[in-house]
Amino acid sequence: MGTIGQLRRVEDRLIKDLEETTIPFLRLGKKYGVSRQAIFAFCNRRGIKRPKREHTEKCSICQGLIRIAKKPHSDFISSQTIKNKLGLGKVDFRYHIGILRKKGLISQKFGGLHPRNKIPDDILKEIFPRRLKRRNINRKVYDKLKNMILLGKLKNGQKLVEEKLAHSLNVSRQPVHAGLLQLRKDRLVIWKHRKGTFVSFGP
Ligand SMILES: [Zn+2]
Repeated sequence: MGTIGQLRRVEDRLIKDLEETTIPFLRLGKKYGVSRQAIFAFCNRRGIKRPKREHTEKCSICQGLIRIAKKPHSDFISSQTIKNKLGLGKVDFRYHIGILRKKGLISQKFGGLHPRNKIPDDILKEIFPRRLKRRNINRKVYDKLKNMILLGKLKNGQKLVEEKLAHSLNVSRQPVHAGLLQLRKDRLVIWKHRKGTFVSFGP
């Protein structure tokens, strides 16, 4: 994590951002490669007054929240996902969402979903079609590899090379990698340092 000293080199730009925009501290921190606190401290030390955010047309946070809220099934997007997407801390998130709810610009439920709560798959599919597809591919590849081991098509002691498996299953390496990790947990394969992954099931 960067330091205040690191900010010295970019301070002209940073001061401009602080004085002329309403970009939240956390996001400025990411932009300048330092913590939110470092930006906050810098701002205080220099006595910089940040412009008041005029809700909602000029506030970049509110605009971002409204943009996400317009997506289909937005009530099912977890608060954590929204915070991550907009680079918001808890305080900013609550503050702006509160304003928008009060003004009736977003639904009362939007942003209220806790990340741990389960979202129905059919709704997930519409919000994150790609992610679900990837999860399905991972699952299929894992099942396939597991079957090949259990049925002895991959023999005990046989070396498993991600690239070759990916090629023969006609998928990318990622799902094969994920599948092998899971099979390690199942103790159907073992990983030997500097040697690779081997089948550890069978006669
Ligand atoms: Zn706002």
